[in-house]
Amino acid sequence: MHRRSVLKSIAALPLLAAPSAPLPAKPGSRGSLLRRVRPSDPRWPGAASWQQLKQAVGGNLLEVHSLFSPCEKEPAGASCREVAGNISNPFYIGDQPAGTQVSGWLDAWTPAPSVYAVKARNTADVVATVNFARKNRLRLVVKGGGHSYQGTSNAADSLLLWTRSMNGVTLHDAFVASGCGARSKPVPAVTAQAGAMWIDLYEAVTTRAGRYVQGGGCTTVGVAGLVQSGGFGSFSKGFGTAAGGLLEAQIVSTDGTVRTVNACSEPDLFWAIKGGGGGSWGVITRLTLRTHELPPFAGAAWGSIKAQSDEAFRKLLAHFVGFYAQHLYNRHWGEQVAIKPDNTLKLSMVCQGLDNSQARRVWQPFFDWVRASPAVFTITDELGAGAKPARRWWNNEGNHSMIPDPRPGAPDYHAWWEGDQEQVGAFLHGYDSLWLPGSLLQTSQRPRLLEALFAGSRHEEIGLHFNKGLGGAPADVRAAALDTATNPAVADAFALAIIADGEGAAYPGMARAPMDPDAAHRDARAIDLATAELRKLAPEAGSYVSESNYFNPIWQRAFWGKNYPKLQAVKKKYDPDGLFFVHHGVGSEDWSADGFTRL
Ligand SMILES: Cc1cc2nc3c(=O)[nH]c(=O)nc-3n(C[C@H](O)[C@H](O)[C@H](O)COP(=O)(O)OP(=O)(O)OC[C@H]3O[C@@H](n4cnc5c(N)ncnc54)[C@H](O)[C@@H]3O)c2cc1C
Repeated sequence: MHRRSVLKSIAALPLLAAPSAPLPAKPGSRGSLLRRVRPSDPRWPGAASWQQLKQAVGGNLLEVHSLFSPCEKEPAGASCREVAGNISNPFYIGDQPAGTQVSGWLDAWTPAPSVYAVKARNTADVVATVNFARKNRLRLVVKGGGHSYQGTSNAADSLLLWTRSMNGVTLHDAFVASGCGARSKPVPAVTAQAGAMWIDLYEAVTTRAGRYVQGGGCTTVGVAGLVQSGGFGSFSKGFGTAAGGLLEAQIVSTDGTVRTVNACSEPDLFWAIKGGGGGSWGVITRLTLRTHELPPFAGAAWGSIKAQSDEAFRKLLAHFVGFYAQHLYNRHWGEQVAIKPDNTLKLSMVCQGLDNSQARRVWQPFFDWVRASPAVFTITDELGAGAKPARRWWNNEGNHSMIPDPRPGAPDYHAWWEGDQEQVGAFLHGYDSLWLPGSLLQTSQRPRLLEALFAGSRHEEIGLHFNKGLGGAPADVRAAALDTATNPAVADAFALAIIADGEGAAYPGMARAPMDPDAAHRDARAIDLATAELRKLAPEAGSYVSESNYFNPIWQRAFWGKNYPKLQAVKKKYDPDGLFFVHHGVGSEDWSADGFTRL
């Protein structure tokens, strides 16, 4: 018999379906909430209770099955063909209750469907779900865009609160946060419901209204997940983190209370959701973010250069880092370069606020220097730079770098960057990140930086994501980031170094070539070795909570630095019983790794 049928039949037994009573507290325990219930537990809610919840949420309670479950039942069936045919489409994955945008992480987590999901339509549905989960001692999971690398938006034996259908976007000419009155002057802003993706905001704010909102680089990331991460996009060097732009949010807390939080109302909770990590504070139902004047142009610089020897590669790195420090370390330039073990430097840089000729002029001296030594440097992908009107940045019509959602009926602006394709459904062998202080760009420090970049890149490719460090950004942008829960190291970092590896989609039940566990473990080890080289530069370097190592043993300090004790205090105040649990989230040290047992 199918496992799910067994669980369902257990839950349906009348004797076992009695309304839940407090679990017996062990002597010396901290109250009744010691253990959450699973479907195999006698206290799992019975069919009648689930029916009540279903009615309360307008029928939007769904049974959840793993993405490839149709293929287990009927490999040649239409449902199996549908999922297999769409698994490279991040919008399709996001539309599935069991969809996770990565397909797992070696030795860390495997996608596991919840038992049920509430596909919430509005705040009332969220309140009903939170109250049901709390009263019945369920493991509650919240999911928006499903992009958690750490797997924090899926869990076996849980109830899923899924915000996908809450995706409205509204623009404001003059927004004042509730209760702030005369204390703050009206500003242009955008309000998004929690399940909106960044492409929904970019369409409304930039393509249609000609303004800018700071969000994420990947178009299908969820708005609430990104803001609670801190959140970086290609233009963050100019506009800061997504969290830094938050003006107000509505959040349903553990007791079912709907709170409007901003700088004037419950400022401690407001501060915590700005970078304190998703899934730890309550369920955010809507967010209002500041919008900015759109710079007239946005552009890029691209290409790949392969050095013919280690010595030449060191020379190339030194020249590039010097060029970066002098010409690119400013509000205009973000995104990344990849430093590869085969002595290749790949450029994937993005800019805003420079027109086509300005962008080209900036890069010309570097390109000339590379081209002057053809025997030493091979250009493996043509070098170039340029810009176009920023209003067309996210308009996928005629934008050859974007792939539109091909499904019939999909909104025509739903598209993803070609450069993000590799990540769709990826299975991670390892991942780590660290913020590299801007002081390393000083001439006296540069030799250490170059040595570490070279040594680290012997093990694994190192990505320097310049837009994910705010060193070189305007003072007000850095100040706004320092007024969030994100590790303050972000404000002085010239880049976030990301070292990661993995393979194509490997969802449970998916037909694919078997994984080579030895090779996967070798990758994980190489990531550790490369990170260790960089850590020599900055032993206390922070790490970006949402793009970090699942196994980081000092995650509290790494993700939040000196902000962690304050975050713990906010957690105790608003969620003392820990209804909102995620792996390496604030307060998660009080729980077993699966979030079911209080330690
Ligand atoms: C392919 C890919 C590209 C990425 N690109 C970027 C990028 O450009 N910039 C960047 O900064 N980060 C990036 N990330 C990291 C990403 O921003 C974070 O993982 C973010 O938290 C994802 O939000 P989500 O809603 O899409 O994911 P989810 O997995 O749905 O949610 C992430 C976390 O937030 C919680 N959460 C979601 N919605 C709510 C809500 N309404 N209320 C309370 N908690 C909620 C979830 O419980 C979970 O713990 C990327 C990740 C992937 C996989």
